[in-house]
Amino acid sequence: MLETKNLTKVYKPKKGVPVVALDKVSLKFPEKGMVFLLGKSGSGKSTLLNLLGGLDKYDSGEIIIKGQTSKSFSQKYFDSYRNTYVGFIFQEYNLLNEFSVGANIALAIELQGRKATDKEVNDILQEVDLQGFGNRKPNELSGGQKQRVAIARALIKNPQIIMADEPTGALDSNTGKQIFDTLKKLSQQKLVIIVSHDREFAELYADRIIELSDGKVISDVELDNNASEIEMDKISYTGNIIKLPKAYHITEADRKAINDYIQSLSESEVSLEVETKSVKAVRFSNTDESKITYTDTSAFKLIKSKLPLKNAFKIGCSSLKYKKFRLIVTIFLSVISFILFGLADTFAAYNHVNACTNSLVDTGIDYLSVSKSKLYEAENYEYWKEGVFLSADDIEELEDITGVEMHSVFSPSNVYDEKMSFDYLIDYAKLNENDEGFNIFRASFNGFTAINDDILNEMGCELLSGNLPQKANEIAVSEYIFEIFKKCGYAKSVVSENKEPYYDEINDIYVYDEMGSQSREYEEIKGYSDIIGKTIMLNDTEYTITAIIDTGFDLERYNELTERQENESGAEEIVNYIMFSEFEFAARYSYSGLAMMSEEGYASLIEGLKYTTRIENGEFYIYDGISYDGNSGFISKLSDVKEKITWIDGEKTKLQDNEIIISSDCASDSMFDENGNEMSFFEYCKEKTFGGELWIFGNDYEYHDYKVVGIIESEDCNNLMVTSDKLFDTLVASPDGIYSFAIGSMPSSKSAIKKAVDGCYNYSDNIRYTINNQVTFELDNVNEILKMLSQIFVYIGLGFALFAAIMLSNFIAISITYKKQEIGILRAIGSRSL
Ligand code: ADP
Ligand code: MG
Repeated sequence: MLETKNLTKVYKPKKGVPVVALDKVSLKFPEKGMVFLLGKSGSGKSTLLNLLGGLDKYDSGEIIIKGQTSKSFSQKYFDSYRNTYVGFIFQEYNLLNEFSVGANIALAIELQGRKATDKEVNDILQEVDLQGFGNRKPNELSGGQKQRVAIARALIKNPQIIMADEPTGALDSNTGKQIFDTLKKLSQQKLVIIVSHDREFAELYADRIIELSDGKVISDVELDNNASEIEMDKISYTGNIIKLPKAYHITEADRKAINDYIQSLSESEVSLEVETKSVKAVRFSNTDESKITYTDTSAFKLIKSKLPLKNAFKIGCSSLKYKKFRLIVTIFLSVISFILFGLADTFAAYNHVNACTNSLVDTGIDYLSVSKSKLYEAENYEYWKEGVFLSADDIEELEDITGVEMHSVFSPSNVYDEKMSFDYLIDYAKLNENDEGFNIFRASFNGFTAINDDILNEMGCELLSGNLPQKANEIAVSEYIFEIFKKCGYAKSVVSENKEPYYDEINDIYVYDEMGSQSREYEEIKGYSDIIGKTIMLNDTEYTITAIIDTGFDLERYNELTERQENESGAEEIVNYIMFSEFEFAARYSYSGLAMMSEEGYASLIEGLKYTTRIENGEFYIYDGISYDGNSGFISKLSDVKEKITWIDGEKTKLQDNEIIISSDCASDSMFDENGNEMSFFEYCKEKTFGGELWIFGNDYEYHDYKVVGIIESEDCNNLMVTSDKLFDTLVASPDGIYSFAIGSMPSSKSAIKKAVDGCYNYSDNIRYTINNQVTFELDNVNEILKMLSQIFVYIGLGFALFAAIMLSNFIAISITYKKQEIGILRAIGSRSL
């Protein structure tokens, strides 16, 4: 059932010359019997056996199995063939150490896709004289016992062929003999092919001996059953003559016997004689393959091999015990990368809208103050510009998306900070006496807004004293502002404008004070009525206070901030910081910090001032290098300042890109031309061209020449430029923007708060309405940090994952080296090629 024709195998090592390990070997094996492959080391025995078992690929020739030529076989076919017909036994036993003896044996059956019963396993163990060893692990057995387990494993499949590569190579000769005895017994039913270099055993047990040398068959003999028993097939001893049969192979036992015999002799000389007849000559004759007939006619049927997943896993895991350190590091890196991914995911899952909503519900902040931020994207970076002015349309939009009625706040203070402060009216020393702590008294307004009964109602505010402002120069202030006056007093008047230096006793210096504060007289403010009717200069206009309004601001809550303790604990410091931050937002962005006007007054105030806006989206700088230095500052549209312009070369309705109008405040009193002739600013502008440096966010600097076509000379038009509408639009973040923020009443229901928050944060990709209060401010920061961390973690996680992957593949490569042996075993006992 097994034949080879011209079977050739050439090993082509990567380095060195190819080795012809098997050279056109043609053999026909009988159906049963014990066939020895004999030969010196390197003669090709193992190669032949491996090819016969389909463990290795041949280069040319063919193997014929049950009449089927292997030419059409795929490796899968060979695996199945081995699984079905061949039981393999190795010199090194090749048992899987992770499995018990029983499991090792059972695995061979499981590879055929069925379960081995305990009885089956026990019967086989009995057959190899190992009953009761089923639960032992291979390393608890002796070499001979191990080899018998290997035989049992080969047998359990009941294969028609047993192949053994030097099965006794690692055993002493006595144990070896037992193994051969077992195999001999099996050879009555099966074909047993044994690779050996031990001629002695071969001649003792073989039915046929095929001898190989340099990959070729050099002799092929079979047991000659007709040969008469030789009279002398052992050594004979007579006197001092020891006789050996021809071609006798002296065994180890013989050597001992001869030694013993020589010792026992009294003669000093012993002679050795060789008989003319040999054992081999008599017992073996050249093999006649033509006599080999196959009686087995059963079809060539294969059982597919499969390695049960459970076992594959067990084997796979067992390799992990090698290179423990590497494994631990790999696991560690993987774990870290998973944790980082997990964190990144968790951070990414943080829901900003929900967090803000919940915190707003918890803290009960009663005002909804919203300012606009705009995203600028340049090639390599992006940034959010905060505090972009809101237009009237923006505020309508805001009401839409938040579901809250919003009121605009106009802040000239954004233009000139000092224009909204009233610290000259109060005793500044008293205001700052708690400088050590947090100053909760701010002597400035954050802007103007309109007030009327409806708004009062809507905001849950209450008129405490006086009447709501009616005229354009009347304002209502919050109780919080009243508290500032109550604390510091109200500076009735500046008695004398003491512009001489005065002596500051505390600091021991002379101070030049334009305010002449030495001469101020303070009036104590005790009750609301004390402040009603008083005047305040804001934004260069004198306003009369007509009303005090309770805005729901709880100043007492923040009072203790001013009394800073000596040894504050870290926790106290944090609490104080948060409290102060909360205070600041409330004082700036609620009605408490606003000067409240009648609607008409507010409208006319804006009408008169809205024409100047900041250059926000870049820088624009005009200079002539001598007498004019116009810093980038404020900018207006031509249509908004038409009346204030003195035209140099006739009136224009539209400015070209290189034409500008500038305010005179940046010029020296007298200008000079290059000849040193004094000239007026007007004349100067008529004749000269100015150099200009323009930078728009995200772009490079641009240098152009500009022609000044008009001059603005007006008190409230300082540091102002008028440009083409196109340039205006690029330099201003919000060309129609007027208002610094919008304010409304925080809804009371959670769902309404959520709608407001959601509307603000999810408005568009490049516009965000920032909610101005402590809670959302902190959470916005948290959100930013989480977003950033999330990104960082993803990248670091990727790094670790990459590293882990490299380690893992390296690790797998190493494990595979370790596993190769086991993979070999599995293949040998019939598993698929792994
Ligand atoms: P034996 O089992 O008779 O000792 P082998 O069949 O193992 O001999 O080897 C036959 C020849 O093939 C030897 O010269 C050996 O060096 C060579 N050989 C065996 N296996 C390989 C291999 N994987 N790569 C290269 N040469 C090999
Ligand atoms: Mg070998």
